[in-house]
Amino acid sequence: MLVSLSNRLSEIMKKVRGWGSLNEKNIRDGLRDIKLALLEADVNYKVVKGFIDGATESALGEQVLNSITPVQQFTKVVYDYLVKILGEEDHDLKISFGGISVFMLVGLQGSGKTTTAVKLAHYVQKNYNKKPLLIAADVYRPAAVKQLELLSEKNGFSIYKEDNGKPVDICLSGLKFARENSYQVLIIDTAGRLEIDEKMMNELIEMKNRMKPHEVILIADAATGQVAVSVAQGFNEKLGITGIFLSRMDSDARGGAALSMSYITGRYIKFIGTGEKIPDFEKFYPSRIASRILNMGDVVSLVEKVQENVDLEQAAKLEKKLRKDTFDLKDFLDQVKQLEKMGPLENILEMIPGLPKKANIKIDDHALKQTEAIINSMTEYERSHYKMINGSRRKRIALGSGTSVFEVNRLLNNFQQMKKLMKKMGKGGKLKGNVLSERLFT
Ligand code: GDP
Repeated sequence: MLVSLSNRLSEIMKKVRGWGSLNEKNIRDGLRDIKLALLEADVNYKVVKGFIDGATESALGEQVLNSITPVQQFTKVVYDYLVKILGEEDHDLKISFGGISVFMLVGLQGSGKTTTAVKLAHYVQKNYNKKPLLIAADVYRPAAVKQLELLSEKNGFSIYKEDNGKPVDICLSGLKFARENSYQVLIIDTAGRLEIDEKMMNELIEMKNRMKPHEVILIADAATGQVAVSVAQGFNEKLGITGIFLSRMDSDARGGAALSMSYITGRYIKFIGTGEKIPDFEKFYPSRIASRILNMGDVVSLVEKVQENVDLEQAAKLEKKLRKDTFDLKDFLDQVKQLEKMGPLENILEMIPGLPKKANIKIDDHALKQTEAIINSMTEYERSHYKMINGSRRKRIALGSGTSVFEVNRLLNNFQQMKKLMKKMGKGGKLKGNVLSERLFT
């Protein structure tokens, strides 16, 4: 996410580290470099100007504190201003705890609306324990309805659709259907066009007036740069939006524009899409994004992600096994699955302070899948007695998992080494976190 901007800023900060003191000349020089980096990353010029003016004033007015170094002081000013332009705080969805919450998703065609609708359904179900219903209101493109239907079904959500009729009428019938069938959240996937046009807007305005949604959320594609910013301005002026979800924040292309969106429209970015999969959807925390961009590491996000996905009960069981030295290949497989649940390893690594940026790391998620396939091809007995997996068994396992004997050997060797390592660690005291990840990350 925003890797090139982050790399540029890291370089600037390296230079700043050489400063002996914080004086007017080096503050102005440093901020000029930052200004260029922001403009290059496609951050809107108005935002850059506001940022630089504010940060210059603040840095020049800073008391030189003995307790912190010039670089810490300068970084803090830059960080504070980044957080400010990103919207200061995180902002929750306006969800109703009594009746049905209605969310209207608007945006241009291809902005990621349909995918985001299903991501939102998944999010409210998982985090608010609410039963969502998706409404297919893009009647102009049958393919769009079909896409929503397929994606919803695949992820276990219901949709409401009608073959004919005006979008607003479909939404009203959908609301009635939701009431009768105890749905608690209504997510409307509205029609998108290639550009904002009057007919589209009038239809959306009518829908907004009749449905009285709790939120009108613009889905903006972060990868489209400044276009996304003017689209957001257009939708906000004509329709009035309550928040923004940025899709495709995982693509680095011109992501800087995203940083301008909140400042320019006065509407908060509430969530971001970080991949094509349905769980790739995160709340937008200005402070975390700022520290990610400044390469300060996103420790809080990382800790949360790990906590969310590591089953504590399972971890306790694992610890017991390690102490008794009964950790077998089945447990190993469980560990692999836990890692997989956390999402692509590169995303996880990106959050760890001090590690090289994504662009420089090659982590093979495919290797996890391969490990899983190999262990799945073993018999129950083999998984708990790895020492008896001889040559002919290895051949059979390789064949069954679509791998080679070389790969089976490698996995068994790694497993053996890991067991040794864990034995040592297990003796040393309490084990924390995911043992496999510790091995992979070190
Ligand atoms: P719509 O036309 O606005 O409904 O857009 P879609 O939901 O069909 O999305 C267009 C494409 O963008 C699809 O291929 C999605 O898989 C992809 N997409 C949506 N959100 C994200 C995201 O956050 N990250 C990535 N990498 N792709 C996304």
